[in-house]
Amino acid sequence: MRILNYIGGALQEPVSGSFLPNICPATGAIYGELPDSDERDVALAVAAASLAAPAWGKTSPEERGNTLQRLADLILENLDEFAHAESRDNGKPYLLAREVDIPRAAKNFSFFASAILHEGDHAYHSDAETLNYTHHTPLGVVGCISPWNLPLYLLTWKLAPALASGNCVIAKPSELTPATAFLLCRLATEAGLPPGVLNIVHGLGAKVGVAIVEHEKIRAVSFTGGTKTGADIASRATKSFKKLCLELGGKNPALVFADCDYPQTIPALVRASFTNQGQICLCSSRILVERSIYERFVADFVHAAKKLVVGDPMQHQSNLGAVVSEAHLEKILSYIALAREEGGTIHCGGERLDLGGALSKGYYIAPTVITDLSTACRVNQEEIFGPVVTIQAFDSDSEALEFANATPYGLAATVWTSNLSRAHRVSQALESGIVWVNTWMKRDLRTPFGGVKQSGMGKEGGFEALSFFRDTKNICMKL
Ligand code: NDP
Repeated sequence: MRILNYIGGALQEPVSGSFLPNICPATGAIYGELPDSDERDVALAVAAASLAAPAWGKTSPEERGNTLQRLADLILENLDEFAHAESRDNGKPYLLAREVDIPRAAKNFSFFASAILHEGDHAYHSDAETLNYTHHTPLGVVGCISPWNLPLYLLTWKLAPALASGNCVIAKPSELTPATAFLLCRLATEAGLPPGVLNIVHGLGAKVGVAIVEHEKIRAVSFTGGTKTGADIASRATKSFKKLCLELGGKNPALVFADCDYPQTIPALVRASFTNQGQICLCSSRILVERSIYERFVADFVHAAKKLVVGDPMQHQSNLGAVVSEAHLEKILSYIALAREEGGTIHCGGERLDLGGALSKGYYIAPTVITDLSTACRVNQEEIFGPVVTIQAFDSDSEALEFANATPYGLAATVWTSNLSRAHRVSQALESGIVWVNTWMKRDLRTPFGGVKQSGMGKEGGFEALSFFRDTKNICMKL
């Protein structure tokens, strides 16, 4: 697969003429290449977007909504091609891509295609003679930078509100997972998106990402990725007063109380810990369990984790596929080694797996469960982002909250209890942008999405996302 940039409605080679290898995590083999673009390609994309912006910004919500709905329909018509491409590019199970990632990408477009038909401006009658009303305008050209873990799902979570609110976009997918963003370009043309409205520039964060963040004509950047990268983006973007939405890392706690619905909690938490090889920003990575059920919980959780099948992502029986890259595999293994140094007990997993044959060079790790670590140790403080969870015991609600809130992160938490007042009390005291009670990953696209503390700045989702991509003006009239 030879990936090209999509600029001004046309597929183009990078100005440098250089390409990067694209590696299949399931086999460790190079299976294609992608542009090693730089600031010259970003400049071409910004020029194309600037040309398209006035006309696209003036289209009616209905016209934009119809185009985005066509794009959503086309994604679903090509579901199988997209799911295969996502699985091959990322290492995730094909079934997960087919059932979750790709349908959700289509849903992102159809949701915002419809959302723009149902919003209104605010009006304030100050007194009998004065009316204030708010007026919203698109920003013009905006940047969207996305990570590798849910490649099309998270890219379209930004593209859809940006385009729906009338902006032209310069997007940079992760260089590790460019395939489905490339396939999307063909469909964007087919759906009738005018040339220059969507531009996708592939390549490295240090070249393409930085060029987007620093380009003076780009008014806003919506970014999802690591906290360190987010800090770098924030420091560069403030120089040009860009609007920023940063969705960053997490170290998500799950609080399991003795009064939980135990039979449903174990499988739900196994899913929350290991789906997508633990590479979802919302995955639980620290499970905190009330001491009276701790021993039983560890035994049952480890038993269930051992039953998960790590295998060829294309095979339907594989619960886990490969992690995204060799560098990421090494990072995860280094944290498991650190857990041993910090006195942790590894109950299962903990090693690289050799699946033999064509998969022997793939990046596989079995679900890993660790106990006997303190809250303060590095393994419980730093984001690992792999199929690794720790389990700790707590003695009271207040201790559970103290452990849960004791990291710099605050993205997502889960609470498992059948006590209604505890569920509310604990949820409200958690330092977390998202809390699920007795469930995980249930998403309603109207709800605000984003972290607190070092997990992010600004919210995505629903009208919050649309409003991020707009300027708001107040007009005051004497009647
Ligand atoms: P990174 O921060 O490494 O990269 C994210 C994107 O930013 C990539 O496209 C990357 O390019 C680009 N980038 C890298 N450096 C810069 C820079 N200096 N300026 C601009 N762009 C840059 O994250 P990962 O891709 O490793 O993704 C994993 C991280 O994402 C985890 O920390 C995870 O928690 C977080 N995440 C957060 C979510 C949330 O909603 N809060 C959701 C999903 C993931 P390149 O391809 O070169 O790396």
